[in-house]
Amino acid sequence: MTTQHQSVIFCDFDGTVTEKDNIVAIMEEFSPEGWQPIVNEILNETISIREGVGKMFSRISSDKKEEIIEFVLTRSKIREGFQEFIQFTQSERIPLYIVSGGIDFFVHPVLENKLEAANVFCNASDFTGDTIKITWPNACDNQCDNDCGCCKPSVIRRLEEKYQGAEKIVIGDSITDLQASKMADVVFARDYLIKKCEENQIPYTPFETFHDIIHVLEKRVVKS
Ligand SMILES: [Mg+2]
Ligand SMILES: [Zn+2]
Repeated sequence: MTTQHQSVIFCDFDGTVTEKDNIVAIMEEFSPEGWQPIVNEILNETISIREGVGKMFSRISSDKKEEIIEFVLTRSKIREGFQEFIQFTQSERIPLYIVSGGIDFFVHPVLENKLEAANVFCNASDFTGDTIKITWPNACDNQCDNDCGCCKPSVIRRLEEKYQGAEKIVIGDSITDLQASKMADVVFARDYLIKKCEENQIPYTPFETFHDIIHVLEKRVVKS
């Protein structure tokens, strides 16, 4: 019996597992002072994602924690087929990692009972002060100077050692998945990531639900 893995999956969370971006939804709902200009600065790339996200949460009171969790749990919709997708990866023994620019306190409750916490990489949080402090356990390594916050390329590089030679499958929806897509052997893209893949001539398969992804991967399993 060999335990060598042929593929490993790195899947985005916001806008991929969930239909919408949770950080944006949280900001719209709790609207901390001046959050909108900060979002624009992130999009214009005048400040980094790490700086912008840190700034926005630092304007929300720590005692909002439970309210935010409740808000995300009730409002965020999981993309169709995700549960089946998890089962598929388990029966095919394909390791599945969620790599998310979201924050632990709302990412983990959404994935609870679905996926082991050890398979989830995201930012972390500290509620001991008056306002929410975001911490960055998965910050950029010395090969990335993007100031990502949760650095997807760095996480992939770290796990690459564990899964030497395995095919890397990246699933995502936005600009934050572009660098990871460049490192991938197979990319499943939706929304803005499609545009970015085309601009950068990265081959990709479009998807809308996780059933789409299962279908493509299933065919390959049968062929091999
Ligand atoms: Mg996303
Ligand atoms: Zn980075």
